[in-house]
Amino acid sequence: YTGKSNDHILSDKVKTITVGHYKSRPVVVTESSSVYEAVTTMFLEDVGTLFVVDKLSTLSGVVSRKDLLRASLGQQSLESIPVGVIMTRMPNVTVCEDQDSIIEVAKKLINKQIDGLPIVKKVSHGSGYEVTGRITKTNMTSLLVDLANNETI
Ligand code: ADP
Repeated sequence: YTGKSNDHILSDKVKTITVGHYKSRPVVVTESSSVYEAVTTMFLEDVGTLFVVDKLSTLSGVVSRKDLLRASLGQQSLESIPVGVIMTRMPNVTVCEDQDSIIEVAKKLINKQIDGLPIVKKVSHGSGYEVTGRITKTNMTSLLVDLANNETI
């Protein structure tokens, strides 16, 4: 029985898989968008997390379903609240890059108890990040299915 070495082969293989192979398209709103617009975007785009960017298109925050629900419990009209005031703001946003190991990213999702991360690239001039993708628990489920079918690259 060579189960142990087969397990090592599988775990070595999984560790070489990068985020870039399993990413999804990011869905982005601007800081000045209203909570109302964010809710609409979430339904139309069928995502659970929106990334928020500033006027220069650099990442400034993340808005989740619960953030929007919380804002909806308040007294103010949802058209009057900008997502910029309810989002989780940089530098408190956990990010990753295309070449990061998918297992390291899975660990971040577990440790931070969040559904997804923006995939970013440093902007060439100045500071900050440009958003290039999204990686979520759904992508992790696809990876699991690919592993079971022996269909990983
Ligand atoms: P939900 O709110 O639908 O449960 P999450 O568990 O992803 O979705 O979000 C929980 C909280 O963590 C929210 O306040 C959200 O703004 C924040 N959050 C989501 N993604 C990130 C991230 N990548 N980095 C930091 N905070 C995040």
